[in-house]
Amino acid sequence: MPRKELGVSDAEWIAKRDACWIQNNWSAGITPKGAFFCEVAGTMDMLFDGPGGWPVEPGWWNREPKDFGSQLEWCEMCGGCLDVPQRLSCDGRDDVTPAMYERLKALGSPKALAGKVVVHDPAEFDASKYHTFTSGNEYMDAGGNQRFGEHNRNIYPKSFAVTPAAGLRKLLAGPSGVPDDWVIVSDDRAKAERAAKYIGGFIINPGCLYTYKGMSVFNVMARSLREALKHPEDFNSDVRSYYPRDKVVSFEFGAARIAVLDAARKVKRALRAALKKLR
Ligand code: SF4
Repeated sequence: MPRKELGVSDAEWIAKRDACWIQNNWSAGITPKGAFFCEVAGTMDMLFDGPGGWPVEPGWWNREPKDFGSQLEWCEMCGGCLDVPQRLSCDGRDDVTPAMYERLKALGSPKALAGKVVVHDPAEFDASKYHTFTSGNEYMDAGGNQRFGEHNRNIYPKSFAVTPAAGLRKLLAGPSGVPDDWVIVSDDRAKAERAAKYIGGFIINPGCLYTYKGMSVFNVMARSLREALKHPEDFNSDVRSYYPRDKVVSFEFGAARIAVLDAARKVKRALRAALKKLR
């Protein structure tokens, strides 16, 4: 949301920009086009075909605000430091001004073309209704620490390869190579396939080894397996031996906990709805 389109004056702008919570908390970054004082600036440079960043060389990160130079021009197009409406990053829509919306459509932005934007009319804009974040913690708290939507399928298991323990090494070292995602070790194929269907509905941690009804379920991306999978022909069929104890998790216990929390959430929602009706 460019500040000029929202009518933010030069005097107000400089103070806001220099106090931007994003750059002040974490945000230097590198894109294929160079190094930037702020990852948002770097992303806009990619999106809008900008001139690129600084050379990626030792010490680039030591620059101070006085050295940011023309990179600060990207702030002019960004609402990150302004008192503007806020939205959960998993909402799937972006807040834009009308001119920015047109610019994004002209660029062929799939999101803008699909209407996944909320366009704000500058004539209606009232900064006093909003307040920019001042810290990363404030940002996380405001979203209830929620970074992903439950409908984002990218964070659910994508596939499960099934193998008996005796065939694990053969699977990992076979001609098709190490599978892409999760592996279930079980001598009962039908049971493992039922488990895959069930577990596939949960967001689980690829770094952990899950135990479920006597089966082991692991992800080939786990850090604990990184070294061993460089030589899958020597892989130990006792997959547990690779994981520290705190990374071995009972899936039954986790799923039961989720069920209790879900039930509590439903009761809370029902109570809230009943109270609303009474008012
Ligand atoms: S205003 Fe935007 S581009 Fe500028 S520092 Fe803040 S987040 Fe980065």
